[in-house]
Parts: sequence; structure tokens; C-alpha cells
Amino acid sequence: MSNLDSTLSVLGLPYENIHVTAVYDGYRGRGKRRLQYHVIACDLTYHRDTCPHCGEDALRPNGHKATHIRIQSLSQLPTLLELSKQRWLCSACHRTCSAETPLVAYNDTIAHSIKQTVLQLARQSLPEAVIAKNTGISAATVRRELKSHLHHRSRPELPTNLCFDEFRSTQNMMSFICIDGDTHRLVKLLGDRLNKTIKDFFLANYSTAERAAVQTITMDMNASYQAFIHQVFPNAQLIIDRFHIVQLLGHAVDTVRVATLKQLDDKTSRVYRILKHQWRLFHKAAPDAIHTKYMRGLNEHITEQGALDVAFTANPRLATVCETYQALHDALMGHNPRRLWQLLEHYESTGTEMDTAIRTLKSNQAGILAAADSWRSNGPLEGINRKIKALKRSCYGFRDQAHFFERIYQIIA
Ligand SMILES: [Zn+2]
Repeated sequence: MSNLDSTLSVLGLPYENIHVTAVYDGYRGRGKRRLQYHVIACDLTYHRDTCPHCGEDALRPNGHKATHIRIQSLSQLPTLLELSKQRWLCSACHRTCSAETPLVAYNDTIAHSIKQTVLQLARQSLPEAVIAKNTGISAATVRRELKSHLHHRSRPELPTNLCFDEFRSTQNMMSFICIDGDTHRLVKLLGDRLNKTIKDFFLANYSTAERAAVQTITMDMNASYQAFIHQVFPNAQLIIDRFHIVQLLGHAVDTVRVATLKQLDDKTSRVYRILKHQWRLFHKAAPDAIHTKYMRGLNEHITEQGALDVAFTANPRLATVCETYQALHDALMGHNPRRLWQLLEHYESTGTEMDTAIRTLKSNQAGILAAADSWRSNGPLEGINRKIKALKRSCYGFRDQAHFFERIYQIIA
């Protein structure tokens, strides 16, 4: 036991067979790679009799083998463990073996602890160069390490509930992503979102019986998918994500509100200030008509419904549009598909953006009604998309799509 052994405890490497002999700063490597390291010199030795090759108790000590192992650093300098491993020679089979330690894999120069740190940092969406700098190993090694930890599921089982979406990947390409609606596990990432690519993937990888077992597919209002879904998944019910429906209607309300705003000349009037500053009121499913509150921009105490009523005096059509928005929102979130369809059927044209929104909804009848009927949404997938975006931004984008996908698997699989 050396008085330097506590050095390893500090580094979180309390291995009883390793004994520190010296600690110093020194230069290692050649040419450009010549760097100053914090060097910890140690011996790895223990008692061993049995030969791993022939099983005889005939091992004799036979010198040491010098190895260099990169370990986690606590100082500014990268830390190098110069480990001198005990060697043995077998007098029965005349072969040699050397001492082993759980610190590092056989014939490897990077400690397990560093590899774990690499994976942890990768999950935090950091670029490889930053991971390399933090762990003191090269970016190429980081990349190799991440690649070796990918779980290659050659053909994941096809879940019965799927979520489809798309995201912007490399070179402004839109890529396709599909996850399991229940477990939120990734099913597939595809390089592009062409109908042919998606169709070919499902047809080539899954049997008719497997595809027939798919019950629901949740997606946004992307009309192009709907063209092939019933061909590929004959029994699947198509559900349009509720968030996207509300977003579409909300956008229509906003367009009418802004158009009204632009018609007003008096920029200090109450109506103008409500329309401009209290835009959130127009997206409320149920504006409060009882409790007054202080409204910024308007500088008075008023109920939400009261403020809306003032705004409606400027444009009666805005009132109709808002009523439609609230009624549809109610039916959709209250899981009342019959009411929802009645509202769409009996909608009277207002000559505004809302007409277009209603037309879009009507043309997606089945998916809209299913949305009101079901509790399923694309929320989990939107969450994953957000993580993908964060990864892309923190790594300053990706040039290589395969590499980008590897990093995505790393954070979500
Ligand atoms: Zn032997």
C-alpha cells in the first residue's frame, strides 16, 4: 500500500490491485500530438496461479507490460494512467498472460468511466467536439464510441398504434419519423418523406397480417400521407392531432383579428388596444364573463368577455368567427364528434379565413371526427421533434444525414 494510493480514490477508481508509484506532469506523444499530461504511474499486480490457456497451476511471474490508459481528469491537464501490468509465463504450455482490471477493457486504452461520460454528454445533445474536449479524447474516438453503443434493432415489431410526423434534417430535407403511440419508442426514421419511400419501407418490412393489426395512426393534416395509408394499413383509423386542428382555427381567428386591427385609424382607442394587446383573449375557449381584472395595454378593470364585446363592435364578423372557434374547440376537447360535425355542416360562410379552415376540416372528415372521439395525440412525437431540433441547434446542424440519425437514436432510442 503506497501513500499515493488515495490519488485513485479521489479519481473514483478505488481498485485494490492497482498501486500508485508516482504522480507528476510530463509530456507524452510525438509531433503535433505531443501534449502535457497529468501522469499517474502505477503497478497492477495480484497473486495468480492458474493459467487461463491450459488450466494448470503453473504460472510464474514474467516481467511487466507497460500500458497507457486515459482516465477522467480532475485538473486542467488530461490525465494519463501509466499502468504497468504484471505478466506471467506458464511453465506447462509456455504461453503468457497479463493482469486484468475492471478499470478498462482488455487491450483498450480508454477507461470505462470515460466511455460512460461520453454517452451521458451525448444524451445532453452536445456536439462531438465538445464531448471530446470535456473527456480529453479525440472527436473520432467519441464518434466511434457512440456508434458502438447503438442498439441495432434490425426490424422492430410493428406497434398497433403509430404516430407519424416529419422534421427538417440535413440540407433542408424533410425526414419522416414514426414512433409507437403507447411506449413512445422509435419505430423508424426515414431520410425523406416521399410517399413512395414510406410505403416501400412498411411494405418491405412488415407482413400483411402485421400491417392489418395496426389500429390507429395519429398525424397532422398532411394530405399526402392519407393517400396511401389505407393501402398499407387496411384496418387503421386515421386520427388528426387535436393540437393541429386548434392551431388551424386559431390561425383563422388571428387573421381576422389582424385585418380588423388594420382597418382602425385611431391607434389609441379602446377597441384598437384590446385587439392589439389582448390577442390571447381571442384564443380562449371560455372567456370569463364574471370576474373583472386589470388589463395591461387597456389600463382598466374589465372582464374578459367584456373586453371581447368591445372588440366585436369594430367588426361583427370577428364575433361570429370567435364564436365558431369556441364552439368547435368545445366539441373537439369535450370529445363530442357528433356536435363537431353538426357545427361543420351548418357553418355559414363569413367570407373570412375561417371559411378556408372549415373547408380543410371538412375535407378531413374521418380524421377530425376520430380526433374528437379519441384521447390519442401526437404530443409524444412533438416532444421528440423538439429534442431533435435542440440537438441540431446545439451541434450547429449536421452535414451527414446518417450521422445525424445516429445522434437522434442516441437521445431517443
Ligand atoms: Zn498454460
